[in-house]
Amino acid sequence: MPDKLVTKGIVLRETQTKEADKILTVLTAEQGRLSVVARGARRKNSRIAAASELLAYSELVLYERHGWFLLDEASTLELWENVRRDVVLLSLASYFAEMTEAVTGEGEDATETLALLLNALYALDRLDKPEELVKAAFELRLLALSGYEPLVSRCAVCGATAPKAPMLDPQQGVVLCRECAGAAMWGLLPLDAGSLAAMRHVLGSERKRMLSFALNGETLSRFSRACETFARVQLERDFRTLDFYKSLRAE
Ligand SMILES: [Zn+2]
Repeated sequence: MPDKLVTKGIVLRETQTKEADKILTVLTAEQGRLSVVARGARRKNSRIAAASELLAYSELVLYERHGWFLLDEASTLELWENVRRDVVLLSLASYFAEMTEAVTGEGEDATETLALLLNALYALDRLDKPEELVKAAFELRLLALSGYEPLVSRCAVCGATAPKAPMLDPQQGVVLCRECAGAAMWGLLPLDAGSLAAMRHVLGSERKRMLSFALNGETLSRFSRACETFARVQLERDFRTLDFYKSLRAE
């Protein structure tokens, strides 16, 4: 008898294969990332078609055979209809998925990471928050969950808790006063009191309150640049989906 697994999961990537099949990369809470074969998912009348879409969050019934999981049944819990209708939001959500895939592993508990991703998608889909704010908060919190938490409580040189003209060093993952950085300014990202406070809030608050703050103007831009650059530098890679999102935003 094959092993049956009933779990909730979100599709981080879909790959079309022969005929009407798909191979899905699915993130679940307890099992982390799974590779799942969705037989016939591209057929119009398939029972698993909706659950096999990128970003679909569903309850899944899987069977394990020869090291593969086969998707047998699914009932969708969230398809993020508003995100799906908006090409810019969809491209941003795809970046969230690609990033999540990059920091999670097979068989590793991903309870917090999954919850964070669902929160961020919910915010894009239903909340009236600037997408730049949601994006930056997601990047920062995901990095922290993955072991790359920056030290933002005080200046790494003088220890000041309210550093003057603060800057983020994305390589070292620390905050410095402008004065303490001295001549070694290359690659540092300018913050201000508001964007530094936002970083502290995102890292220190309960997940559910993570997005309970407002920023705008140059303060939001600084927060956004700092979080995106920090993620790229720490993960040592670019994201195809981020480039695509930016190209759409630039239009
Ligand atoms: Zn200092």
